[in-house]
Amino acid sequence: MGGEVPATVQGIYDEVLRRNRGETEFHQAVREVLESLAVVLDRHSEYAEMKTVQRICEPERQIIFRVPWQDDRGEVHINRGFRVEFNSALGPYKGGLRFHPSVDLGIVKFLGFEQVFKNALTGMPIGGGKGGSDFDPKGRSDAEVMRFCQSFMTELYRHLGEYTDVPAGDIGVGAREIGYLFGQYKRITNRYESGVITGKGLGWGGALVRTEATGYGAAFFAEAMMEAAGESFDGKRVAVSGSGNVAVHGIEKVHRLGGTVVAASDSSGYVVDEKGIDLDVLKQVKEVERGRIGDYADRVGTASFVPGGSIWDVPCDVAIPSATQNELDGDAAAVLARYGCRYVVEGANMPATPEAVRVFRDAGIAFAPGKAANAGGVATSALEMQQNASRDRWTFEHTEERLEEIMRGIHARCHATADEYGSPGDLVLGANVAGFLEVAEAVHAHGLV
Ligand code: NAP
Repeated sequence: MGGEVPATVQGIYDEVLRRNRGETEFHQAVREVLESLAVVLDRHSEYAEMKTVQRICEPERQIIFRVPWQDDRGEVHINRGFRVEFNSALGPYKGGLRFHPSVDLGIVKFLGFEQVFKNALTGMPIGGGKGGSDFDPKGRSDAEVMRFCQSFMTELYRHLGEYTDVPAGDIGVGAREIGYLFGQYKRITNRYESGVITGKGLGWGGALVRTEATGYGAAFFAEAMMEAAGESFDGKRVAVSGSGNVAVHGIEKVHRLGGTVVAASDSSGYVVDEKGIDLDVLKQVKEVERGRIGDYADRVGTASFVPGGSIWDVPCDVAIPSATQNELDGDAAAVLARYGCRYVVEGANMPATPEAVRVFRDAGIAFAPGKAANAGGVATSALEMQQNASRDRWTFEHTEERLEEIMRGIHARCHATADEYGSPGDLVLGANVAGFLEVAEAVHAHGLV
């Protein structure tokens, strides 16, 4: 794990370990926040007295349910569905649904916990939650995915509502799945409640820029970090892991901002293309054909494919891990440092392990945690809710401007908070403390509920 847990919060951490046995990712996420909070509790005795940190570490509600469905051959499958409604101090629970075989309660809780702070940092009125299932959409027909989504929503709908809980997509849940989920919600409730889910199609309540928002937002955040150091993307070599929603749009925006993305990956390996990743080919392979990243190298003469392997072996100035949790460990971080990497910006949720973060700190590499750098997706989801509520539709340009403004605002806030709490340049501490203070104030104001 990371550094020492400060004595002030050790008891809180021990209690989290005791009550949430075996949920290692959740422990990791809580610990990382607690390490930042000792300085806050020193200044705010009211939060210690009212056990505000302990209350924020305990989800308001955890829902686990059975999801039965039949495949195209008539075989019956039973999956497990989750929704963890973590904190509603700032607004309705808001956070994505993940469909992936690795999903369990600990993963959903880690993501929900992170979401609480991330959503607070956006400055939008949204609480935090997360959900999903151990269902694997890979290799399933559209009809199978639809039947699964309908069964999933048949239980979940009773917990949702535009003022209660508003899910969105995440790994394995894109526009297709959101469509099936929304359709079933509408059918059961007999309400066209657009604001009940985000990431909708553009023709039926979706918002422009939502698809691009997380990747674009991470690139804007990276640019703000560089500007704070008197630099820019110009001439920088960039490695972006993953080739899903976050990665593809991150690559697109980095190229527009003047950087060159020389490597991308998926779970089968990585490709290197010194000329810069050709986005049209990457999108064709991953989004249209739903193929493997190696297919990219088969089509682009300047590219090579490394099966297995770590993308962090590719020398770069900027690394934007955008695949999944704990994909960048201490050894990979040491390689990045050795090759002179200067900025690491988390596009995914918690892709860097605590050891990796320690290596970055020791090497003087500027590091942005996901709860700050990838908040563009949920911020734009909140903009989608805003448009749904006012029956309005904004242009791409206007929405993208709002996104950039929000990302720059988050960076400025994390930066200023790190200064204020005596750790200049520490965006991990800045994000944790700024997010916590926003939530804690509202929790406190609402009394003991
Ligand atoms: P996605 O579209 O499903 O893409 C995930 C990508 O990561 C795929 O290319 C996948 O490869 C790859 N991947 C998964 N496990 C991997 C591994 N162990 N090694 C290398 N590559 C791996 O998901 P996404 O929406 O881009 O989300 C990516 C991350 O960003 C997640 O941590 C998510 O929670 C976070 N995030 C997403 C959003 C959003 O708006 N989408 C917002 C905030 C945070 P395969 O194709 O081989 O599976």
